[in-house]
Amino acid sequence: MDLALAAANIAGQSGEVPIGCVIVRANEVIATAGNRTLTDRDPTAHAELLAIREAAQKLGSERLPDCDLYVTLEPCTMCAGAISFARIRRLYFGAFDPKGGAVESGVRFFGQPTCHHAPEVYSGVGEREAATMLRAFFRARR
Ligand SMILES: [Zn+2]
Repeated sequence: MDLALAAANIAGQSGEVPIGCVIVRANEVIATAGNRTLTDRDPTAHAELLAIREAAQKLGSERLPDCDLYVTLEPCTMCAGAISFARIRRLYFGAFDPKGGAVESGVRFFGQPTCHHAPEVYSGVGEREAATMLRAFFRARR
């Protein structure tokens, strides 16, 4: 989660909302990404999607069943869908996102009958650091 926080910090420095994501397999980091929606002018360039794409490319598979994903903020509906499609084993997330989250907030995607693979979820990991970073970012922009 420290690496995900570092990626979030880098994203924040380039004006992006500071969200970072790391994918780990067998104690090895195989993908790291920060949010890039502004930089790439791509509404789907969330940290989780970029990391999943990188990991899938690296492993040569569209499924990542032995992979664990760490992200600093509760994933949105889009990313929760991608995490499910990628068959991610465990999801660790930091801060809760009552406005845009889809894991323990909002649609609670992994609990829906239309969700065919749900990862094990560990929430609030590194929550304080992630939330502090997001709050500082939004405070500075107001
Ligand atoms: Zn997302």
